[in-house]
Amino acid sequence: MKNKKKVLVIILVLAVLFIISIIVYNIQNSRKIELTQLSNHSKTQMMGYIIKTKNDKMIIIDGGLSADTENLMNYISKNNNKVDYWFLTHNHNDHVTAFTEIAKKENVEIDNIYVSLNEKEWYEEHEKARAEFSSYLIDLLNEENIKQKVKEPTLNEKIQIDGIEVEILGIRNPEIIENPGNEQSMVIKFNTGKQSLLILGDTGVKSSEKLLKNQKDKLKSDIVQMSHHGQLGATKELYKEVAPKICLWPTTDWLWDNDMGTGKDSGPWKTLETRKWMEELGVIQNYIEKDGDITIKIK
Ligand SMILES: [Zn+2]
Repeated sequence: MKNKKKVLVIILVLAVLFIISIIVYNIQNSRKIELTQLSNHSKTQMMGYIIKTKNDKMIIIDGGLSADTENLMNYISKNNNKVDYWFLTHNHNDHVTAFTEIAKKENVEIDNIYVSLNEKEWYEEHEKARAEFSSYLIDLLNEENIKQKVKEPTLNEKIQIDGIEVEILGIRNPEIIENPGNEQSMVIKFNTGKQSLLILGDTGVKSSEKLLKNQKDKLKSDIVQMSHHGQLGATKELYKEVAPKICLWPTTDWLWDNDMGTGKDSGPWKTLETRKWMEELGVIQNYIEKDGDITIKIK
């Protein structure tokens, strides 16, 4: 009789454990990763993305201009003023000015900053017009309290963030001195195992060729960030290899329509051409910066 009771208790405990594990599994799976494309808060193009992982880790990529800082800060405040990972694709102000302002705030905690920059002298020599801002950025990253958070990733380095594998497919390319700043863009692939996102920054023609040569088998991604705000960035050949279903366009209204102020296609920009490429490649969804902040769920 005693033994029967014991067996019954064991069965009951096992049943309860089984039910609990099913509930935990379902909760875990119902949590989704959220990807937000930030919108421009001035007339100038910018780029900024936020990824919230299943367990609320906050990843930021770039962030935009000074005019965009307040909007980005709203998201950071909601995350208790904590950013777990911040990736800076390259040195240009339309990508990293908001970062430079937020990094100086004493109440904001940034745990990891991933950046791939050349020495100050390189920018002085090859990108004179922007050398002052580059120098300011490099000095900021070298400040005592920030320095310890800064990491320079190596090519093909993998970083595991709460179930997302982040792989660095491209780092600075100091040998490319045409279109110099943009061509130093870090290229980052986020892979959840079910869906992937490719961040290109402002990658240009030469680094597109380099990526096709060295990383061809890793380029295919479900979602792609359109390089250089959707025009004069990565090549058609590169996008063909990526073969995305969803395009993220860090593109303002005037740039989207190549509008100088006198109507569609009145400007010198190549956005309409790039839009056509993506149509030809069978992209089914476009999300555009001009339409406001947009959050999509990632599997
Ligand atoms: Zn840019």
